[in-house]
Amino acid sequence: MAAVPSTMKAIVVSAHGGPEVLQYTDVPVPRPSAGQVLVRNEFSGVNYIDTYFRTGLYQAQLPLIPGREAAGHVVAVEGGSTLVSHGQRVVYMQDGTYAQYTAVDVEKLVPIPNPIATQQAAAVYLQGLTAWTFVRQAADVKPGQWVLVHAAAGGVGLLLLQLLRGSNAKTIATASTPQKCQLARSNGADWTINSHDPDMVAKVKEITEGHGIDVIFDGVGAATFDADLEMIAMRGLLVSFGNASGPVPPVNLLRLGPKNVKLMRPVVNGYIAERKALEKFASELFELVMLGVVKVVLHKTYPLSEAARAHVDIESRQTSGKLLINCD
Ligand code: NDP
Repeated sequence: MAAVPSTMKAIVVSAHGGPEVLQYTDVPVPRPSAGQVLVRNEFSGVNYIDTYFRTGLYQAQLPLIPGREAAGHVVAVEGGSTLVSHGQRVVYMQDGTYAQYTAVDVEKLVPIPNPIATQQAAAVYLQGLTAWTFVRQAADVKPGQWVLVHAAAGGVGLLLLQLLRGSNAKTIATASTPQKCQLARSNGADWTINSHDPDMVAKVKEITEGHGIDVIFDGVGAATFDADLEMIAMRGLLVSFGNASGPVPPVNLLRLGPKNVKLMRPVVNGYIAERKALEKFASELFELVMLGVVKVVLHKTYPLSEAARAHVDIESRQTSGKLLINCD
């Protein structure tokens, strides 16, 4: 196996701003501290959250290397580990993955099962764990419920639809173009509504015959929150989990009263914080991939040097499914 070099290529953000602040440069290869191993990243996922850290919507110390998930292989294990071994293929969620190497907490590493390609693991991991824990833990969707997924042709959106298929819920998807609506349909949506349709709320009422939506999965945020409260059923659950259109402004809780609405703002990390829970949900997710229940829709793989292009694309709403960075 090749020796680990002293420097590597990485994307560094030194000031908040647009995609242009993603600088492709040389930095020292990180040195794993106690409880960490060095991973040679092959593919890093691009997630919408990466744009929040770039713009400063989510705070982190600068300079930073963006990226929250990657898959690759272990190249250095200090002092041995019972969880992983040298050369093992692994996937993980941790900061600093737009880089050739990352020093990763060993507790965060999950070995990739043999039938799953490294690229496939990187493409499904963070968004798949999000969709799976939200369907099972945040909402515990029941058969026959009306469920609505916003931005349903996006990375998390398509995976939510695929996973909802198995729950026998009745799913309505929103997306911004006819092509995206078609993709949502082919991934499990029973009905689709163009998100630019000014009659969205009326259409939902018509489709559900006045019942409204029992569970709304909303990663869009500011633009959809008010409509969500109109579309939601009596005692419905609004799972507001993202800010693609901007963060939801402070909410007057009295607005939840007329329909006894449950409002939650889950983060995937909260469901996989303990090692046991991480292993359980990751192995269930991989099982679903191997069974073909979950099928990654890959939008595009970008070279590391073109990470800025990936951000331009995802923010311009031109993408469907997953964006990856090849860390070679
Ligand atoms: P997506 O691939 O879904 O991309 C975002 C999508 O949001 C776009 O494709 C677009 O779809 C839609 N969108 C609506 N309004 C806007 C807007 N004004 N600008 C840009 N996009 C808009 O991204 P991800 O799958 O990575 O993430 C989806 C959401 O889930 C994000 O908000 C993300 O932060 C959140 N998330 C939250 C997690 C958590 O733990 N809480 C974990 C993972 C993701 P369309 O064109 O169809 O409207």
